[in-house]
Amino acid sequence: MYMRRICVFCGSSMGNKEEYKSAAKKVGEYLLDKKIELIYGGANVGLMKIIADEVLNGGVKVIGIMPHMLIEKEVEHKGITELISVETMSERKDLMASMSDGFIAMPGGFGTLDELSEILTHNQLRISDKPIGLLNTEGYYDNLLKFLDDCVAFGFVRVEHRNNIIVSSNIDELVTKMNEYKPIVTKKWIQDIKIESNGG
Ligand code: AMP
Repeated sequence: MYMRRICVFCGSSMGNKEEYKSAAKKVGEYLLDKKIELIYGGANVGLMKIIADEVLNGGVKVIGIMPHMLIEKEVEHKGITELISVETMSERKDLMASMSDGFIAMPGGFGTLDELSEILTHNQLRISDKPIGLLNTEGYYDNLLKFLDDCVAFGFVRVEHRNNIIVSSNIDELVTKMNEYKPIVTKKWIQDIKIESNGG
């Protein structure tokens, strides 16, 4: 499926390497070139701002979703096409999930990891089958990917769920793979963990 709306999770900070900023700019340019609408946290700070500005300047739609509490702190981007205000961080993630055709996580902190983790859990439970991409700029996510391999090795994550994460350091390649994505079906998963927990 060709994604028309992508949600980007990324830092409310800029990070301390120029490469993070240039990667965010490239993501914006890519979305613009392909006329893909951007859904994001709605902020006017960090890598989020760089992507939003790039897409907006080229005239493609940008939708931000933000809880009141952050709007009150005046971190919202005042120039975006639409700012949807919600009550809670959870509501924000729900709306991001339902409005987008796919998700990209770029370098970021706890907020980004929270959003990524939630959407990976949706994928595992098959609440959503939308593609999830990790833009691994400058190897930012190498250690997380290694940790996820450990989660598989130690029996806490199914290899199919781990392998559903699409990884690339190049935005063009990442979106191409995301458009081709088909989830690996693990019908027996819930049944298997029930058996395992009951000594079977
Ligand atoms: P972080 O990765 O901790 O910088 O958080 C960035 C992610 O969490 C974004 O994708 C936002 O949706 C959300 N977020 C966290 N802090 C903020 C903030 N100050 N303004 C807007 N969004 C934020």
